[in-house]
Amino acid sequence: MTNRVGIVVVSHSAPLAEAAVALALEMTPSDPPRVVLAAGTADGGTGTDAMRVAEAIGEAAAEGGGVLVLMDLGSAVLSAEMALEFADVGETPVRLTSAPIVEGLLAAVVTAASGASLDDVEAEARGALAAKSSHLVEEDADPGSGSGSAPADGAGETETSAGAEETRAEVGVEAEVEVLNRDGLHARPAALVIGALAGRDAVLRVARPGSDPVRVSGPTALLALGVGQGETLRLTAEGADARALLDELVALFADGFGEPTDPAPGDAGIGDPGSGGAATPDPAPPAAPDAPATAAPPQPAGRTDGRTTSRTAGGSAPGGAPIGVSAGRVAGRVVLMPGPVAEPPEGPAIADADREREAARVAEAADAVAAALRKRAERAGEEGRAILEAGAAIAADEDLREAARERIRSGSPAARAVWDAFGAAAEALRAVGGRTAERAADISDVRARIVAALTGQQQPGLPDTDDPYVLVAHDLAPADTAVLDPELCLALVTEEGGPTSHTAILARGHGIPAVVAARGAWSDPQGDTLLVDGSTGELVWDPSPELTASLAERAEIAPFDGEGRTSDGHRVPLLANVGKAADAEEGARANAEGVGLFRTEFCFLGRTEEPSVDEQIAAYRGVFAAFPGKRVVVRTLDAGSDKPLAFVPTGEEENPALGVRGLRTSWIVPELLDRQLEAIAAAAAQERAEVAVMAPMVATVAEAADFAERARARGLERVGVMIETPSAALLADRLFEVIDFVSLGTNDLTQYTMAADRLLGSLAALGDPWQPAVIELIARAGAAGAAVGGSVGVCGEAAADPLLAAVLVGAGATSLSMSARAIPAVAAQLRAVSLEQCREAASAVIEARDTGAARAAASAILR
Ligand code: PEP
Ligand code: MG
Repeated sequence: MTNRVGIVVVSHSAPLAEAAVALALEMTPSDPPRVVLAAGTADGGTGTDAMRVAEAIGEAAAEGGGVLVLMDLGSAVLSAEMALEFADVGETPVRLTSAPIVEGLLAAVVTAASGASLDDVEAEARGALAAKSSHLVEEDADPGSGSGSAPADGAGETETSAGAEETRAEVGVEAEVEVLNRDGLHARPAALVIGALAGRDAVLRVARPGSDPVRVSGPTALLALGVGQGETLRLTAEGADARALLDELVALFADGFGEPTDPAPGDAGIGDPGSGGAATPDPAPPAAPDAPATAAPPQPAGRTDGRTTSRTAGGSAPGGAPIGVSAGRVAGRVVLMPGPVAEPPEGPAIADADREREAARVAEAADAVAAALRKRAERAGEEGRAILEAGAAIAADEDLREAARERIRSGSPAARAVWDAFGAAAEALRAVGGRTAERAADISDVRARIVAALTGQQQPGLPDTDDPYVLVAHDLAPADTAVLDPELCLALVTEEGGPTSHTAILARGHGIPAVVAARGAWSDPQGDTLLVDGSTGELVWDPSPELTASLAERAEIAPFDGEGRTSDGHRVPLLANVGKAADAEEGARANAEGVGLFRTEFCFLGRTEEPSVDEQIAAYRGVFAAFPGKRVVVRTLDAGSDKPLAFVPTGEEENPALGVRGLRTSWIVPELLDRQLEAIAAAAAQERAEVAVMAPMVATVAEAADFAERARARGLERVGVMIETPSAALLADRLFEVIDFVSLGTNDLTQYTMAADRLLGSLAALGDPWQPAVIELIARAGAAGAAVGGSVGVCGEAAADPLLAAVLVGAGATSLSMSARAIPAVAAQLRAVSLEQCREAASAVIEARDTGAARAAASAILR
């Protein structure tokens, strides 16, 4: 127990939350507070789940200093509120805050790291937008200070110190500093500035030359300034510790915050790899290892149809190439979204007497937009509703309206004032970069709607048609994506957007294939029909009738008939991944042939005490009961790392993913494993499922043998292990000497093969199971299984990617286990290809040099 505040992040999207947390944790590299995620649904989908939130609150409460909960949209708030009813936190205070999820989290993490109280952490989080808002309306901001202190930029006597020009202001001190470090004033320097401020009696303001100062009390205000290398800033500090603070800051700036201060690569001119002038690979590339600068994905063999304008592997966002963000391959007639709402002219200044009326028009138009979005929200599904409601909230945002009114008071016409005020807010989000920048589209969408209302233009929005279409847009507004009719919209293609944009999230939610970052697709369309591959990002304009017809045969994904097999009859049982009885029931409804992975730790994540054997029996029976006569593979507790269980004492670890997790916990508490095996055996005896057990995170044969012995001693006859470490994959032949089956956990196998933390969004390209090295390890395990007639299942996310599923079968997988919703598409893909094609594809992937080439090669063979 650290007695510090624990933080919970509730988000619809795990990648979104992970990236926000990664950004926030950059602020406190040495001793961050505990941040627990409750993001996405248990099966990896988009949504929120009150029970998961309750568990996360329980974990964060263990820190002892109270819990602050940050939430994203709509139902996240409801889930968090509901979670308070279930959370097992004793007397620990838990506070839900309306703080913004990105800026608020940054501020909360930094403040909590310093051991501040829950009140202070919450106050910082809630105030995190203040500096940015103030900056955007170009006011001299001093939210909440009200102290009547003198303006920060008063003239004074000048001193010079350590490369910085320092001035004694009327009240407090000033210094001019230069940003020397190569990457500008990014997250880490910002954190160091806030670290210097923490605990000091001082108010800090920062200004660019010629701009008004912005009060800085959290890192967001600094980040939002977007200061680059070589820029100067004026720092002003007031209060008893002003001098000490400024001295420390001047030293930090002078030292480049301990970072490189030579010019960034790319400033070097000719021959610089980043300038496109030389083919020499960059020795230290940014996180896009499969970028086509070094290896352009090959075109599929034999493609003669239409114009394949672009294609790439999904996810790694190589320069300028389209990105597939929602799987599926379809073709259809193109419908272009209406053009953007025209930018209103500056116009002559509004007469003084008319300004109030002009300001009232903004309120009317914004109210109308908010009401229209709310109305559409009522008709939309859960996810769409949340986004439309968020749009309505933006339209109703008093800060934004006030920013527009402020411009009207200076003479701007209403439409122009809205354009500029909302534009500045969107720009500030873009300047923050990363995934935050993707949210800028939400504000721009609302701006366009209000401006259209003010100027009598057609509201931007979806075309009114009853015939199916492929929608091609510049940047699809969230409000439009949310109300898309998946029956009519065959696919989405946008010029803008990223893998975590709302377009991507909602398209996946609707099961609509989608490709983003398709430059020119909307502004310079190359045909009337378009083939869209949402897995690879491939776009083919005016595909041949044969190609279109072949797609049509596969367009309708039939429900799974309960028998997974290839076109030539090779059986591949398709099983469900479950974490509780309800998942198992959903799997049974989807005709899953059994359960390939029962994540038992999901039953007990929020528990502080070990569940009794009887409680365990009840939980396990719930799952077994859904599959009488069918196989259910129970994984023993995979505690530790990203799934710590309070009752499993793994201790503090520097690298928990490489620490005591999974089966390794039995080294410290063997009796816990024994009791679980006892409960599994008892539950199995009371139900009709064919129960097998397997252990997670195995690296040696001795571990597997020990596990098998313990399980068999309790009457559990069918025993396996997961292959999640490269070691286990390489030792698979010897593992089969002591156990009956293996199951490939491709999520962890990828993490450990690529040495890329699976929780880090910034390493997503490395954590891609299409990595040829990962497939080669899988094939090695497959060969070991084939040699002895042993089962080689796959239960990681890779099995849910239809194309990759076929590759896995070719690599020797004998069964595939996935979330129930993924089964029909995987079943359909397998039915369309022979075992030989799968094998060819697996060989091609193993021989590929990167994920882009791997996908392209597999696609050419399997489609
Ligand atoms: C895996 O690692 O692929 C796996 C299935 O286990 P988990 O995702 O629960 O770690
Ligand atoms: Mg795993």
